[in-house]
Amino acid sequence: MSWSIPLGRIAGTEIRLHLTFLLLLAWIGVAHGMQGGLPAAVQGIVFICLLFGCVLLHEFGHVAAARRYGVRTPDITLLPIGGVARLERIPEKPTEELVVALAGPAVNVVIALLLLLALGGVPAMAAATALEDPAHGMLARLFWVNVTLVVFNLLPAFPMDGGRVLRALLAMRVGARRATEIASGIGQALAFGLGLLGLLNGAPLMVFVALFVWLGAQAEAQAVQLRELSRGMAAEDAMITRFESLPVTARIADAAELLIRTAQTDFPVVDGGGRLRGILTRSDLIRALQQEGPDAPVLEAMRREVPVVPHRAALEEALRVMQEAAGPIGVVDSGGRLVGVLTHENLGEMLMLEAARAARAG
Ligand SMILES: [Zn+2]
Repeated sequence: MSWSIPLGRIAGTEIRLHLTFLLLLAWIGVAHGMQGGLPAAVQGIVFICLLFGCVLLHEFGHVAAARRYGVRTPDITLLPIGGVARLERIPEKPTEELVVALAGPAVNVVIALLLLLALGGVPAMAAATALEDPAHGMLARLFWVNVTLVVFNLLPAFPMDGGRVLRALLAMRVGARRATEIASGIGQALAFGLGLLGLLNGAPLMVFVALFVWLGAQAEAQAVQLRELSRGMAAEDAMITRFESLPVTARIADAAELLIRTAQTDFPVVDGGGRLRGILTRSDLIRALQQEGPDAPVLEAMRREVPVVPHRAALEEALRVMQEAAGPIGVVDSGGRLVGVLTHENLGEMLMLEAARAARAG
């Protein structure tokens, strides 16, 4: 996920902090500082660290459950409204997906119960609506943080855990694809309602959350669709095979010429042996033309270390590599020569075609 900074690694999982999380931290820090000076600000920071810990433990609930089914988690991104654990893959069986989705909120339920024991009863609701107010006890606010994490994450909308629970339950009855459609539809309707409510009440945070839910629902639906579609397909079934490439001796002016003459925007740079040396994207090209001029070699402007996958590799595997690379990747034959390119655009086109076929069949 972009807009995030790496913090460290726990048990093979990278912990990343989304920059919007820092906004929340600043808000709570300032609110504390203005009320009670330095001691309150310090207290605020302790509270933030504990809150951060609750979100992290929630995510590790997912990680531990996924590991039981042999699924690893490359990274976790912490957002103000929770975290996102990026699983290597979604478990195949709906029951497994259900367990993994519920494992996160279950951790917050346990924390809330422990806090309840420590507090000796349910703390005042007032602490729930003013989490930034140090006047309410630390443990009381932490209790409400965990209750909020459970309730919010169980909303039946992608990308929340509740959306996954809903999808898994639906998948047991109507199949994975239809389940995804219904779950993401409900997610977007919920996001719309939430956004409207936020606008009417003048609550910018609510609008922000709604936007996050809306975008998440869309991204999740597309990712799941793509994953289902790619099942049983190979990289060579989805790759672009008609494309122009540039020789290693090419100059920026040659690339500019190709950009105009073709509909292509990314150009593979290939050596004499047919091996992929890098990819020159449109933005790389424009930047190089501006800074170095038309005579600059493409070798210096291109992206190096572009990953490649064998042409017979499972498309699912290729999608994973693409996600990691965050850009187009190459497809090579058994001799290591470039035979195709996979881009987000042509995968998007594949989705559109499949949707049209499904609509006609259904
Ligand atoms: Zn979760």
